[in-house]
Amino acid sequence: MDLAEALNLALNATSPFAIENFINGRFVPTERVIDSVDPSTGQVWAHVPDSDAVQVNQAVEAADKAFKSWSQTSVQYRSTILNKIADIVEANLSAFAAIESKDQGKPVNLAKVIDVPRCVHNFRFFATAILHDTNESVMQQEPVTALNYVVKQPIGVAGLISPWNLPLYLLSFKIAPALAAGNTVVAKPSEFTSVTAWLLAYVFQEAGVPEGVVNIVFGNGPRAGEPLVLHPRVPIVSFTGSTLIGRRIAEITAPLNKKLSLEMGGKNPCIVFESADVDKAMPTIIKSCFSNQGEICLCTSRLFVHKNIFDEFAKKFSLAANALKVGAPQDDVDLGAVVSEQHYRKITSYIGIARDIGATFLCGERSLHLSNGNKSGFFVQPTAVTNISDDSRLMQEEIFGPVICVLPFETEDEVITRANNVIYGLSASVWSNDVSQVHRVAQKLQAGTVWCNCWLVRELNMPFGGTKASGVGRESAKDSIEFFTEKKTVIDGHMQMVRCEIVTTTTTSTTTRGGATISAVHRCAIERRPAVGSCPSAQPAV
Ligand code: NAD
Repeated sequence: MDLAEALNLALNATSPFAIENFINGRFVPTERVIDSVDPSTGQVWAHVPDSDAVQVNQAVEAADKAFKSWSQTSVQYRSTILNKIADIVEANLSAFAAIESKDQGKPVNLAKVIDVPRCVHNFRFFATAILHDTNESVMQQEPVTALNYVVKQPIGVAGLISPWNLPLYLLSFKIAPALAAGNTVVAKPSEFTSVTAWLLAYVFQEAGVPEGVVNIVFGNGPRAGEPLVLHPRVPIVSFTGSTLIGRRIAEITAPLNKKLSLEMGGKNPCIVFESADVDKAMPTIIKSCFSNQGEICLCTSRLFVHKNIFDEFAKKFSLAANALKVGAPQDDVDLGAVVSEQHYRKITSYIGIARDIGATFLCGERSLHLSNGNKSGFFVQPTAVTNISDDSRLMQEEIFGPVICVLPFETEDEVITRANNVIYGLSASVWSNDVSQVHRVAQKLQAGTVWCNCWLVRELNMPFGGTKASGVGRESAKDSIEFFTEKKTVIDGHMQMVRCEIVTTTTTSTTTRGGATISAVHRCAIERRPAVGSCPSAQPAV
């Protein structure tokens, strides 16, 4: 099968089809499979390999073998390959978007403008970033002349673990920099959303990625993810997912000295000050709460609104939220289905908690009108609650769905303290027309990213990552390339072998002119070369 046939199979499947692991450039089936469910219908639509340590070992072996040659390729060569990958995905953008939507539940229209274009951008961005990456160097002068320079070297086989919310987007944000930097890869996408990663493997084949350079092993966390992160020949692990699993990976890999990047959960605040232009801000605030069914790690989940505008804001917010269309992802809707039945139960359990604690619902209590084919799908309508305490589970725990808490505040200091009062620190947003207030508050919020009068906008050159329980490490052109490489300092002392030593000699002469005696001091600088091999003034290096 080639890419066109694989896309065709996934697009037109009328019964569940099997996807396969991609190991050493070949597609390999497994005996055991996991059912992958279309969240908008509740029906199984694909069978995903239920891989274990055996397949992980095969993949790591292939990647380890390929590393020897791939790590020696030029950045220009790798750049050309990454650009080809981007071109092929872009040429099939609509098909990828439709399949991503079927696998994940998100609206096709959203996948067309966010997920797939960002995947293309990730490959293009790192294809060019690597061409412009430079190294530091310094000509040391004392105590000896020596050229010091840094090389950033690929590390080896990168183990890449990604979640289900933005499957292609986040997987490619790991694969692209890992390959650009010269590493080989074993990726394990989420077992809930594996189909587009399988299609991406066909793209790699078509783009001419050499065998073994990228391997994709499908399966769940404990059986496939853990053997990958624990594998002795995987020195570097990049993980995006929940805080619970990130912490587990940190714990089990700690004794193994692996280089680790963790992008984890969030409970992001959005603060609306009195001076904000609410009408102008509302469409973006609504998007920040409900895009991708609230399943973006950067979505707002705690909305703090100044008390003087709270009532008016709440009215406008619920009107806008109620106007959002929820339904079949292939239709013109704002929200599709949430990813799985298990996640649906988690989200709706928080709605249950809100009822139990007597929260006031600003929106979300109306029944959904779904077509027959979607009645068994996992749909949750945009829900916002108020009149709850900051200590409630709704305000402290990551729900990761379209359920928002909206609360009033009185003073700037108070809202900063309350916004920071969670274990997480991924992102925050601030809406105010007072420029100095915006920047004052941004400095004090504990978050890796603070959006001021905007949301989800970021130049990929800028660092991305979380503080506190939201993560360790940053991703960007510079940060990702640094993460996926090891810096080595090389010192060339050869220069001091040829350096001329200046030796000054002083002589005095006396002459008599017109009866007077005149003395003169003559200084003479001469060059002397040290004997080859000697290092007369060598000092300790550290
Ligand atoms: P998850 O932690 O359950 O799973 C993430 C990945 O880890 C999956 O591929 C899973 O199979 C794998 N995994 C699970 N157990 C493992 C183990 N023991 N060893 C190795 N791998 C294991 O997360 P999820 O439910 O897929 O995704 C949602 C979470 O991801 C949310 O918490 C969200 O905030 C977070 N997220 C964070 C970011 C970010 O950039 N900070 C981005 C997207 C999603």
